[in-house]
Amino acid sequence: MYHPSASTSHPVAGSAAGILDPAAADSKDAILFQRCAWCGTAMYHRLLCPVCQGSELRTERSEGVGTVRHSTVVHRNTPAARNVSLIEMAEGFVVRGRVMGPPIGIHSGDRVRLSTAKDPVRGEPVFQLLEEPYRAWT
Ligand SMILES: [Zn+2]
Repeated sequence: MYHPSASTSHPVAGSAAGILDPAAADSKDAILFQRCAWCGTAMYHRLLCPVCQGSELRTERSEGVGTVRHSTVVHRNTPAARNVSLIEMAEGFVVRGRVMGPPIGIHSGDRVRLSTAKDPVRGEPVFQLLEEPYRAWT
């Protein structure tokens, strides 16, 4: 069935991104975060727990839903303005990313959902606004 030599002309996609947690390989559309095994604090891209300094961290997978905590518009070095937002995820950690849509249309408190875990250009997560049904008609 499998012929390893036959795959030499087809490098395995995804292996070029560097060493990642094995769970990340099949979680392209999810944000992985760490949770402290001692106090339960959720964090993102930390080596030590910011609360108790614990180093025993478990990797967990976020559901991808969060709330905009801060949003700024960046014009620097880009032909079009883009927004950079801090998203507080439902699990309790904060991640920096981009929210799709008009930059001025994004406000603190808006609920967002993960669209792409890693932007192919910047490698940062991209979110989309969650349309709340009861606000759609206003
Ligand atoms: Zn801790």
